[in-house]
Amino acid sequence: MNTTVDVAIVGAGPYGLSLGAYLKAANVSFRIFGVPMDTWRRHMPAGMLLKSDGFASNLADPGGQLTLEKFSSDRELPYHHTRIPVPLDTFIAYGLEFQKRFLPELDQRQVTGVRREGEGFRLELEDGAGVGARRVVLAVGITHFAYTPPEFEGLPAEFVSHSSCHRDMERFRGKRVVVVGAGASAVDLSALLHEAGALVTLVARRSAIAFNEGPGNKERTLWDRMRNPASGLGSSWSSWFFCNAPDLFRALPQQTRVNIVRKYLGPAPGWPMRERVLGKFPMHLGSKDIQASVLGKGLSVRFKDPDGKAVESVADHLILATGYRVDVRKLRFLDEGLRSSLRTVESSPALSRNFESSVSGLYFVGLAAANTFGPVLRFAFGADFTAKRLAAHLASSALAGSHAVESEPRLEEAACVAPAGAGSPGGGRS
Ligand SMILES: Cc1cc2nc3c(=O)[nH]c(=O)nc-3n(C[C@H](O)[C@H](O)[C@H](O)COP(=O)(O)OP(=O)(O)OC[C@H]3O[C@@H](n4cnc5c(N)ncnc54)[C@H](O)[C@@H]3O)c2cc1C
Repeated sequence: MNTTVDVAIVGAGPYGLSLGAYLKAANVSFRIFGVPMDTWRRHMPAGMLLKSDGFASNLADPGGQLTLEKFSSDRELPYHHTRIPVPLDTFIAYGLEFQKRFLPELDQRQVTGVRREGEGFRLELEDGAGVGARRVVLAVGITHFAYTPPEFEGLPAEFVSHSSCHRDMERFRGKRVVVVGAGASAVDLSALLHEAGALVTLVARRSAIAFNEGPGNKERTLWDRMRNPASGLGSSWSSWFFCNAPDLFRALPQQTRVNIVRKYLGPAPGWPMRERVLGKFPMHLGSKDIQASVLGKGLSVRFKDPDGKAVESVADHLILATGYRVDVRKLRFLDEGLRSSLRTVESSPALSRNFESSVSGLYFVGLAAANTFGPVLRFAFGADFTAKRLAAHLASSALAGSHAVESEPRLEEAACVAPAGAGSPGGGRS
């Protein structure tokens, strides 16, 4: 039997899981695909601490039944809304528990193809099976969008890799590793590499590392709170605006939105990292013209210091902590026809107030929606707004009866062959 559902969610990270919990409560017929919390389990360094506060690290369910606070209290794990950083392992365990509780039916297969079929879509799965869906929500997160600056393209993967490729730092024990970048990924990775016994050098164009401010030991006064109101993205009026008014953000001129998303919180290392990195290993901040080339069994990394003096660092490996840039062309599992008919703004999909792209029935959430709704969509904190808004929209336009529609089996389902040009499962994986 070939099942057609009303909604297919691709991706089971914080956004996909939150949306699934809301759709289920709204009795919408849907399926959700992907390995739960995969980005956090395989593409972030073990031992990392979240930058978001505890209260801002929730997945969203309609009754608020499973917050991180509730999960932590049930397991007697340390928790505080702002004062105790959330360990990566705790957040992963929380996400997995959320999935088991609200979405035990999650289908862990990768979606390797999405194409138009009639008024809806056809999804192809990694084992060649097919699923029809009237609407598709791409909650595919960040890994497809790992960004390599052009000057480092083409260098052998043995010597140069993106920060998203690294979970385990042990393999670098005793090795010379240059980390490029001064954002959260660069700083977290450098600290963890150093602590794992690697000989780390950090090289960055930025002249200083902008650590997030810690919560401090004192209660915030009324004056502090008025000047810099607390929000899920930190304490400031701009952060407060981004957290509380994504619709107003969407009304800003297009170029203003794009500029804000590019620069805002760009992404700052968490305050606990300060003492784990400053003075612990060499840092070349304010560097220019950073380049690398293979040198025997290693790499020569060359750059100019702030005075223009040439500096060379010889390394066994170079890690590019150069972030993520949305580019819909990188979603290779999307059929070429769909990709080319997407209206984009600087390679991000242009979206309606209901997260719908210019391809009717195709929705984007998470990082890919940040240029539309603002920086909050780059963080788990934006999942609540997203799940509420999108689930209400999908429910209001759901098929009558909202149950899965059974249709005749399709011949091509028998063939367990991945479609030509399908993206690799979980694109961007190491
Ligand atoms: C080093 C680092 C630290 C971060 N720290 C924080 C933090 O402290 N707090 C915070 O809020 N945010 C943090 N972020 C941002 C974080 O990535 C996002 O908040 C979060 O991942 C958004 O959730 P998501 O569901 O959109 O994406 P993801 O968590 O990336 O989930 C998307 C899922 O989709 C799956 N997927 C992709 N393609 C397919 C496919 N074809 N078929 C099936 N499944 C697919 C992926 O495997 C993945 O599991 C950090 C990011 C990085 C890189």
